[in-house]
Amino acid sequence: MCQVEEDYRDPPLLPDLPSVFNKCVKCKDASAAVVVRAGDPYCRACFKEYFIHKFRAMLGKNRVIFPGEKVLLAVSGGPSSSSMLRQVQEGLSQNAHKKLRFSPGVVYIDEGGAVGQSVQARLRTASELQAVFRATGFPFHMVPLEQVLDLPSSVVVAAVSPEPAASTYKAAVDRFMQSADTEHHVQEQRRDEAGLAVLEADTLSLQQLLDSATTLTAREELLSTLRQHLLVHTARSEGYSKLMLGDSCSRLAVKLLAAISLGRGAQLAQDTGFSDSRYGDIVSVKPMRDYSAKEIAFYNHMFRVPSVTTPSLTSKMSDKASIQRLTESFISKLQADFPSTVSTIYRTSEKLQTACRPSSAADRMDTCLLCVCVLDTSVGNATAFQSTLISKYLSEPKAQVSPGAAAAARSGHNPVTPPCVEQSRSCGGEHCGTSACTAPAQLTLTTDLKNLLCYSCQLTVRDMSSVDRLPQYILSEAQRRTRRSQLREEISDFLLDDDEDDSRG
Ligand SMILES: [Zn+2]
Ligand SMILES: [Zn+2]
Repeated sequence: MCQVEEDYRDPPLLPDLPSVFNKCVKCKDASAAVVVRAGDPYCRACFKEYFIHKFRAMLGKNRVIFPGEKVLLAVSGGPSSSSMLRQVQEGLSQNAHKKLRFSPGVVYIDEGGAVGQSVQARLRTASELQAVFRATGFPFHMVPLEQVLDLPSSVVVAAVSPEPAASTYKAAVDRFMQSADTEHHVQEQRRDEAGLAVLEADTLSLQQLLDSATTLTAREELLSTLRQHLLVHTARSEGYSKLMLGDSCSRLAVKLLAAISLGRGAQLAQDTGFSDSRYGDIVSVKPMRDYSAKEIAFYNHMFRVPSVTTPSLTSKMSDKASIQRLTESFISKLQADFPSTVSTIYRTSEKLQTACRPSSAADRMDTCLLCVCVLDTSVGNATAFQSTLISKYLSEPKAQVSPGAAAAARSGHNPVTPPCVEQSRSCGGEHCGTSACTAPAQLTLTTDLKNLLCYSCQLTVRDMSSVDRLPQYILSEAQRRTRRSQLREEISDFLLDDDEDDSRG
């Protein structure tokens, strides 16, 4: 009788447990210490070689980093970016033909203020990481996230940068070899000890800014945008031309699916690709994108790579707290049963490309005020974006949709919603519904701001109770762009139309 309940399936395969009888697939001599993929046991030495080789191969294949170039490594203290730091160290200590030839620096963004860490806890984390960074001998920069409040507006404007051709890579290699022969390459030993002096008022403003996002999803998006701006600014002001990010392939798989859910389909290729040049002069690269979180954990454990855990916005939150968190738990649960989940998603990201625009047109394209991607909102009438806008306005419970509003939605302009509707959504504060809630200036800013954002960033801003908590550099750039487009509209009657010109000529 009880046989019915017995499980007759095959005994589960345990590829993760290397036995002493397994030999390394590479050297076929030493006994296996780690199984990277099912059926591929490696010994300790071969695993190390495989891991280091993969890093160099990723950089070599893409040829984005030039010899002698200054590269800023963004290290959060987590396993993946700490492992990346170790790979750069290993790469610089290799013998001549395998040696990495750029000059690295390290940046750590302290986000303790955003997640409500105490000053003591922040200082403790910072000093732990400082010890790690000092041991590498690389110059390093400890930057509190609060500094994002003082950024210049130039951060959200893509700089024009001459696109380096393939031939210039060869020229740079030759130049570097010559200079390496004549003068001994002296490592710059400058250290940034000053960091982390934070004003309490700044921490408060930062917290108010993040708290103004009413959903955790929007808060996470906002935080990642601010972090990105600060990284780019640090790279620019310290003279780096590349930014190295430590996203593993597990991380990127989550980012990819989350980005789709967040309406960032148009920006996927830039968000998840190996290199991202949306800022023009500062190019971000992701050399860890071929490593799974598991591989990194094995490597860090075996070769004692120190990492420091820092709390995040979603620490101790439930799986359904935000879209990003939900995606993460979805993928990790799927991965547990289907080990090729992450790699399948990741391989998809490799194939993604944005439709090519003529380069001259791309230069004049407007970019999103927050994520600095080319705006995906200036599209034709019969597109998914316009349909989304129309159904959004039609399904909004309180909005009285006039035919004019729907027509405006169709033509791509933000329809003029009755002020009360806009207020109840944009204000939501303690004064909402009272006479103090008129705030016409704020209302204009919200609508103006929307025209300057991509679809996904519009969603983020929609979930903010008030946009005037945004840092000054964003607001003043918004005002500048709005003034400019108003001016263009005013003089539009006097401008020669291209088509008109052609027909006459
Ligand atoms: Zn081996
Ligand atoms: Zn955007």
